[in-house]
Amino acid sequence: MTKQITEQRKSAYYFGMILMIIGGLMFFSVFITGAMNFGNFSNFQADAQSSMLRAIGGMALLITGVIIRSIGARGLAGSGVVLDPEKARQELEPYSRMAGGMVKDALDEANVSFGGKAEKVIMIKCPACGKLNEEDSKFCQECSKQM
Ligand SMILES: [Zn+2]
Repeated sequence: MTKQITEQRKSAYYFGMILMIIGGLMFFSVFITGAMNFGNFSNFQADAQSSMLRAIGGMALLITGVIIRSIGARGLAGSGVVLDPEKARQELEPYSRMAGGMVKDALDEANVSFGGKAEKVIMIKCPACGKLNEEDSKFCQECSKQM
């Protein structure tokens, strides 16, 4: 079982991220140049064509980047490209383990332990003075009256 994410998948993840950034910049540059050339119709048709190309190209890069990044992060089976539940479970194993670890950390933080003795203390009230005493005490801690 793979305990760590492979180098290839890490590379795919970062490659996808770079594609996303380039695609995103290309896509948004359309709006920036569009705003800069606003009201300038001297080269309108060429501008519109280049904008269209950059918008479509940028979008395509962005989508490709998202897909590659998710494949890199979760593996081919883990991201649903290859339908193979057993392999998906293996590829997602680092994440499941991490989630399990996080739950365990949270429980540790809250001082909860499974299988440990339940430390629930029941107190009973002294009939004479009203002081709370432990359930098994024979005499009141406060007034020494028999419980
Ligand atoms: Zn008492």
